Amino acid sequence: MSRHPFRLAPLVIAFALSLVLCSPLARAQQRHASTAAANVPTPQSMLGFAPGDDRTIADWAQIRAYFARLDAASDRVRVETIGQSTEGRPLIVAYISAPENIRNLARYQEIQRKLADPRLVRDDAERERLIHDGKMVVAVSCSIHSTEIVASQMALRLAYDLATAQDEETRQILQNVILLLIPSPNPDGIQIVADWYRKTLSTPYEGSDPPELYHHYAGHDDNRDWFMLNLTETQAVTRLFWQQWFPEVVYDIHQQGQTGSRFFVPPFFDPPNPNIAPLLLREVGLIGHKIAADEEAAGMQGVITNALYDTWWHGGFRTAPYFHNSVGILTEAASAKIMTPLPVTKEQLEHSSTRGMDSALPKFPTTNFPDPWPGGKWRPRDIMKLELIAVHSVLSLASNYRERYLRNFYALGRNALNSEAGSLTYLIEAGQGKDENVAKLVGALVAQGVEVQRLERELHVRDYEQILAGSSPPAREAPANSYIVFLSQPYAANVRALFERQVYPNRLTANGEAERPYDVAGWTLPMQLGLEAPLVYVTEPAAQRRLTLIRDENDVRRDLGLPLRQGTRSPLANPITRPVRLALYKSWTASMDEGWTRYVFDTFNVPYQTLLDKDVRAGNLRAHYDVIVLPSLRMREIMEGNPAGRYPAEFTGGIGDAGVEALRRFVEAGGTLVCFDASSELAIKQFKLPLRNVLEGLKSSEFYCPGSILRLTVDTNAPLAHGFGRDVDAYFINSSAFDVTGDGGGRVHTVARYADKDVLRSGWLLGEKYLAGKIALAEVSLGQGRVVLFGFRPQHRAQTWGTFLFIWDAISKQ
Ligand SMILES: [Zn+2]
Repeated sequence: MSRHPFRLAPLVIAFALSLVLCSPLARAQQRHASTAAANVPTPQSMLGFAPGDDRTIADWAQIRAYFARLDAASDRVRVETIGQSTEGRPLIVAYISAPENIRNLARYQEIQRKLADPRLVRDDAERERLIHDGKMVVAVSCSIHSTEIVASQMALRLAYDLATAQDEETRQILQNVILLLIPSPNPDGIQIVADWYRKTLSTPYEGSDPPELYHHYAGHDDNRDWFMLNLTETQAVTRLFWQQWFPEVVYDIHQQGQTGSRFFVPPFFDPPNPNIAPLLLREVGLIGHKIAADEEAAGMQGVITNALYDTWWHGGFRTAPYFHNSVGILTEAASAKIMTPLPVTKEQLEHSSTRGMDSALPKFPTTNFPDPWPGGKWRPRDIMKLELIAVHSVLSLASNYRERYLRNFYALGRNALNSEAGSLTYLIEAGQGKDENVAKLVGALVAQGVEVQRLERELHVRDYEQILAGSSPPAREAPANSYIVFLSQPYAANVRALFERQVYPNRLTANGEAERPYDVAGWTLPMQLGLEAPLVYVTEPAAQRRLTLIRDENDVRRDLGLPLRQGTRSPLANPITRPVRLALYKSWTASMDEGWTRYVFDTFNVPYQTLLDKDVRAGNLRAHYDVIVLPSLRMREIMEGNPAGRYPAEFTGGIGDAGVEALRRFVEAGGTLVCFDASSELAIKQFKLPLRNVLEGLKSSEFYCPGSILRLTVDTNAPLAHGFGRDVDAYFINSSAFDVTGDGGGRVHTVARYADKDVLRSGWLLGEKYLAGKIALAEVSLGQGRVVLFGFRPQHRAQTWGTFLFIWDAISKQ
């Protein structure tokens, strides 16, 4: 059987292998490796249990300690610290490969850099040499979602196996592949979950999720940050991947719910993002089917493909690679209860359904789910076994088709350069008056490897939208100090995916309901940041342009006269214009919206205190605070919190009726209550404000808008709209829209409405008529105070820099 049907003749491979395996040097290395393997400690010898054993957990300190031992004991492993977590823990990567590769990492990094950017390759001969000499770089990342804990434990076993195995296949893999193993890109979360698991072991709460976010700011949204790069963890891994190593394959290991399929592997569900190269979609499918076949061969049941997870959305660990010409995959194993086994019944499986799967125990097998699992006890070890087989599949493909992957990776970058887009560029025009937003946008782009340049002098351009529409617009001058992002660059797909407006296909189920996308439908960055960035055609020849390449965010900050980033403290100035005692409500239901709000406050150096349920219930709030912010939470979630019995008593029950009363008194005594999106429900219903949410109760066949950018029309005279023009883009994610009812107390001042028409800017909006012209932001006076009601999300995932100012206005107003 030929292992390399595409390029290399099998004989060449056989010859090369015989050189490697039979030379005196190779024999010496084998002896050396065997001796070294004997010195490599097993995970069990350090932990006192084998990774994956029922009701055991290795915490981050132990995981790190084990990798440090491997680094010392094995010449196949080198461990590096790539950054610090939000709470100050070291983030690590383990390079695992043959000893001679490990000794030459810098050389292989240089080859990768050139393959990633074909402009650095002199000629065909050099290209062939790079492909011949290069190694396949595969990144495997575990447990970014910390309650999906098993992969972080699996990483110990995987690293041990690869460090010690002497079989022929592993040797070939180590020869051909450099593995970047990230035991977790969220060390803080591993520690939080391990501490909680141990604390609750052998109590009624064993196996529950911790009642706090497992990332200081983002919780589960730590995997929604891969183009905005708000989090220090995302920044560190992005630097490792898209500035240093350019992995050809990235594998992100997750777990899903407890009662569905046992293991999801690609191909993904529809729709795909139109900017992903078709070749990459095929490669994703190839790896997925290889995993599925290997699992089946090993007797593992319940593996599903083509379900639930799609590739539309950009912003995940496994989606960022598509926009860097790399293959990104994820797998999702069914969860146990953290590390506690879980019985799963036939009935539970029969009642579980998702897109692409009517039931986890269907009456008839389907092509994408041919061998359902019949139920029984589900153990962490089952998850670990699925994951180990999957990693091995990926490494095996990578090793066997090394040359083909490298060639395709190079070709995708070259195709992006060869497009007819040589004179097309996005233009972030100087003088928009939002310098921090410009610095954030350009900084994030450059950090993920996108080329951005500054105009040293003006440039003549024509509006490309008008050219496409058939007219010939006059040339105009783009002013000096504007930033431009050419489409002709290796990561052109990323530029398009971040700058274009998304047009999500109208997808309905058989009964006319909206089919929910996996994540959001729209994210266009200039819109989220409130910046104009049109696509323009540059009329001047390249030789006449005067451009400077931007290397990092501080380049931009220096140009714009902003304070530079130094160390970990954010250099942004506090935008609140009066001394104000500010509080932010925090529920024990672990709200990501609360976390992101905290992130925005901390980033802008806005001082605040956290209000827990007991603090709200205790009352007397006006004596301590001027402004209280409620993040987006349903009324019931705020009032009732976690149900009794699920957690120890201190984490159950919400603010209750006493808390509602305390908030009402706070407002009546002159306080300001700011409600984001869903929490408006509490103020409207409990304080009987003369408003209603017109979208409440609508079926998804009537109205649906799952994470999109909508156009607002702003009353520029309103104090809460200070600093805004008439048209503003805002983020809407199954959010709210208000109408005045006339019943109830309080005067309503409308600050912004959803536009009367053409509301959708980017994403998917079904049923515009229900929303058009309705209130998006209002202020209602009550007693001596007021309630500010946001229908949309002014701080969604800390991406919506264009609407942060509404928050500062709401807090700053006397
Ligand atoms: Zn996950």
